Amino acid sequence: MLMNSIWVRVSEQGKDLFNENSIMKLITRRKYLYLILSVISLIFLMALTTLLWWFIAPRLEDIYHLLRPISLTVLRSFFIVLLIGITMVVLTSLTEKNFLLAKFIVKLYNRIMYPITLFLGRILGWKKERIRESFAHVNNSFIKSMKLKFKNREILILLPHCLQNSECKIRISNEIENCQHCGNCDIGVLATLAGKYDVPIAIANGGTLARRIVNKYKPSVIIAVACDRDLVSGIQDVYPLPVYGILNLRPNGPCFNTRVEVEQLEIALQELLYEEKR
Ligand code: SF4
Repeated sequence: MLMNSIWVRVSEQGKDLFNENSIMKLITRRKYLYLILSVISLIFLMALTTLLWWFIAPRLEDIYHLLRPISLTVLRSFFIVLLIGITMVVLTSLTEKNFLLAKFIVKLYNRIMYPITLFLGRILGWKKERIRESFAHVNNSFIKSMKLKFKNREILILLPHCLQNSECKIRISNEIENCQHCGNCDIGVLATLAGKYDVPIAIANGGTLARRIVNKYKPSVIIAVACDRDLVSGIQDVYPLPVYGILNLRPNGPCFNTRVEVEQLEIALQELLYEEKR
């Protein structure tokens, strides 16, 4: 009887785990999608370059007899660097412990692997939005792994203008202090949170203004709230400045009366602030 009920429970859990929706949810959740796609992209890239080399190798030998073995050694070394890089990236992201021995690996990963991964993901039928969201989570795990700590004034909270309620006539782009804390959007509560931790907060109405704000405050780290597209371009624009990304919620569609999980922002603040500065 007991064995029977255990078996029923195990098989129900198994069914749930292997239920197609559950697997898809797991893959698309947070960083897994981007990590899986970037490993596939790397294999694809290696296969493509090997094929290219195989085609041009006889020509290289005609030019100079040592050119073929030299080019093969260069190609193999490149593959080894890429494989070490991706292993460290995956380990860092999954464990949130810093396996990134060199900063250039993050750069390589962000600059080279991101467009290839996005391209391959699109071919495999994933939405750009999902891939970018997953990239933002991977980026956050890099920041967490580095265990970076900052003083209050070294952090900047950067918000998108679409968080403001569309009916609100108060100008808050330059002075968030003008907010009347009416509760019709999350701006008021975010301004209060920034005040509580004495951290600068600003609202950016587009990429150009965001860059101007960053130049003005010169932060050492940014906590940015944005949609997947703006977040990814922002992370890449200001590199090597670390950007902890928080995806906004879009219950009314993109760029209109968006919301944010304030608790998520507070957790990010607490993770980045020195203990005594909280
Ligand atoms: S919380 Fe502030 S910004 Fe939002 S609607 Fe009210 S006054 Fe406007």
